[in-house]
Amino acid sequence: MSVMKLPGAALLALCLWLSACASQVVTGVSAIADADCAGHEAIVWQPAAPSIWVWLPAAEVELAEANGGHVAPTAVVVDGEQALVVDPGPSHRHGLRVRESLRCQFGARVTWVVNTHAHAENVLANSAFADLQSAGQLRIGASQATRDGMTRRCPDCLASLIRRVGEAAMEDTRIVLPDVTLETGTVLRVGQRELTVWAVEQGHTEGDLVLWDASHGVLFAGGLVYGQRIPELAQGQVDAWLAALERMAALPVREVIGSTWSSGSAGQLPPAMESTRGYLSALRSGVLRAMDEGAMAQDTSAVPLPAYSHWAGYSERHGFNVLRAWRELEPVWMEQDAAPPVSMPGSVEQPRR
Ligand SMILES: [Zn+2]
Repeated sequence: MSVMKLPGAALLALCLWLSACASQVVTGVSAIADADCAGHEAIVWQPAAPSIWVWLPAAEVELAEANGGHVAPTAVVVDGEQALVVDPGPSHRHGLRVRESLRCQFGARVTWVVNTHAHAENVLANSAFADLQSAGQLRIGASQATRDGMTRRCPDCLASLIRRVGEAAMEDTRIVLPDVTLETGTVLRVGQRELTVWAVEQGHTEGDLVLWDASHGVLFAGGLVYGQRIPELAQGQVDAWLAALERMAALPVREVIGSTWSSGSAGQLPPAMESTRGYLSALRSGVLRAMDEGAMAQDTSAVPLPAYSHWAGYSERHGFNVLRAWRELEPVWMEQDAAPPVSMPGSVEQPRR
């Protein structure tokens, strides 16, 4: 679709939400006449709901030089001349592109950046908004746990991301911390739109922020909902994550935007919510079963999940998830009375009780 000239972003959003337009993708909207925009690199924004747009990665893959760290969606809420960015991305360059796109394609200025959780590919693009934050023109919000996690881990995760995607993609990226603590019930306003902090969970990380747009049934779930990629459990907890998914499933969710974008239909929840729950449930039951059979924690091959082996990151991350889940679930297994005796004494190591 070529660059369109429309009176404003609101009309554009309305147009695109109509069925005649909804299947199209916005590559450019020249809402303001600005010479600086002549050379800007337009983003292909896809409409998820009125005023809500998503910039998807090219594919559901692992971090690599080829994708510059863009492995999770960047979402924006645009109303009038204001914009809110949910998880600005992995790098200064990525964040600048978002900022310029909102200015040039929507005629909007970013007033809010929200960090759903403390992972490098989601938060390091805060860097591109640091000058606005310093000038008091923009706030960066996150849970206290995410701010603490960024303080603790971001120096290492910035170095790690540079190693994985290369120095060029990460040029000028520096750690910029949130300046506003968001808590359950906090309402964020963007023009006439309102987003509610529905919960701060402890599933994918120590403080996963969930934003809820009740008027359109859009849930911003951060890292709590994955697509066809193996969930990252390094800072997470299986049982807390499953509980968070259960609470989210009680909402009338039509669109979920997290580590993927997934749409519900005919009153059904977006399928990514169920598939994420499916993987974590299989991981949990597989680890407990392996314990019953006397396997050892380091034997990650004892918990194969072939149904998920085609997901991106299976070979890189599933074994680690087994270790992580094992550490969490061992006390659970030791306390439960249901663990059956080992069927072949002497042939396998006895489980510790
Ligand atoms: Zn994450």
